[in-house]
Amino acid sequence: MDGMTTLQFPRAHLFIVVILSFGLSSFVIAKFTDDPAEDRFTTESVLLDLPQIEDKALSNQASAPVDSEAITPAVAELAMLPPRTAEPELRPQPQWQEISTKVQPGDNLALIFKRNGLSARDVHLVSTSKPLGSRLKSIFPGHELTFFVDDEKRLMRLDYSSGPLDTLAFERNGEGFDAEQITAEPERVLAYKHGTIDHSLFVASQRAGLTDALTMRLAQIFQWDIDFVLDIRPGDAFYVVFEELYHDDEFVGHGNILAAEFVNQGEPYQAIQYAKEGAQPNYYAPNGNSMRKAFLRAPVEFSRISSNFNLRRVHPLWKTSRPHRGIDYAAPAGTPILAAGDGKVKIASRTQANGNYVVIQHGEQFVTKYLHLKNFGRGIKSGQRVKQGQTIGYVGSTGWATGPHLHYEFLVNGVHQNPRTVSLPNAAPIPKGELPFFHAHTQQYLALLDNYKSQVSLALAR
Ligand SMILES: [Zn+2]
Repeated sequence: MDGMTTLQFPRAHLFIVVILSFGLSSFVIAKFTDDPAEDRFTTESVLLDLPQIEDKALSNQASAPVDSEAITPAVAELAMLPPRTAEPELRPQPQWQEISTKVQPGDNLALIFKRNGLSARDVHLVSTSKPLGSRLKSIFPGHELTFFVDDEKRLMRLDYSSGPLDTLAFERNGEGFDAEQITAEPERVLAYKHGTIDHSLFVASQRAGLTDALTMRLAQIFQWDIDFVLDIRPGDAFYVVFEELYHDDEFVGHGNILAAEFVNQGEPYQAIQYAKEGAQPNYYAPNGNSMRKAFLRAPVEFSRISSNFNLRRVHPLWKTSRPHRGIDYAAPAGTPILAAGDGKVKIASRTQANGNYVVIQHGEQFVTKYLHLKNFGRGIKSGQRVKQGQTIGYVGSTGWATGPHLHYEFLVNGVHQNPRTVSLPNAAPIPKGELPFFHAHTQQYLALLDNYKSQVSLALAR
């Protein structure tokens, strides 16, 4: 319901948006970098001799002299992470002629074949081959095609690369083609970055040579402890150990952040990536506590709070004393609403007052409610399990609502609490029995981080 109070909460932007994935990341980045004071920012970027840093961006810069003794052999051994699988074996015959070409704007397969003197019949054979031939219909400019042809210009083999790591290999088999998908495992190389913040994390990160996407991931890791809009102070610093991916000595992208430290107002926060075999990786503090809370503070990216939690409110429409047991987050219709935590949908239904609404049960103790939805997220129905951050619906104004907003309620043991101030439980820590394995596994990354930090401070002291 629309209310009388209007509070600005810019702090909500970051921690919601980072959950929403990169689709929205440009919005946040714009917010952070849109600062006229940008020129004042300084970020130290020091080149240090660390285990196998193949930092192409830094290697061009004037570097500080390097102390190779500072690296303990144990740490240096970790430098090169082993490639996960062997290189695929390509089998072109020596007598075939090889023709490599790049897809140009406006190209299609027939044009490319014609341009390279290949027959329309081979276009047909290869593009209708089962099961992968249809993939050749979605070629894009920049993709690479390599033809291997015999003396009669018959296509014997076609390699189609949609990226440095992904190749489809079509090989002639009589009057058809067999196909095989080849995914190359990139070489994973450790990289290190450090920045000191004068004002904004994003400016400091750019100075340090961190991509926006990597900065988003860094902010995402610490979002539960640090409000990157309100809590950041000059002198805050970050250290990141992450993977750079290479294939044939060419940089092809960033891998994961393995370990990171963020020093906020003098307080250091450390996080290490860890995953059980086959499970999704998460970030944990060195003691095994999860970096994240079990609930998002606000389950939607909102522009303002249109009505606060107030148990003694006089209702704006009915003029009677009617408590407001939740918070109204004003947001444009269609804005995704996220499950605040892992749980099970108890109700996904519609009433006259609530409009479309969802109730989620989180374990025994907690219930969250989401009202006035325009519509439900895909697959959202009673009994459905949901993950934190999953879209369960979209902001609307169904039911008794005067404008698009999310009415959000948070119940602990059946009692309404103020969603903005209720103390949120931590997400599950590493189970006690698994802690020895966790420590054994994460110790190496903490060592890398500590080693890097001491080298940075040595370099800065010179
Ligand atoms: Zn409300």
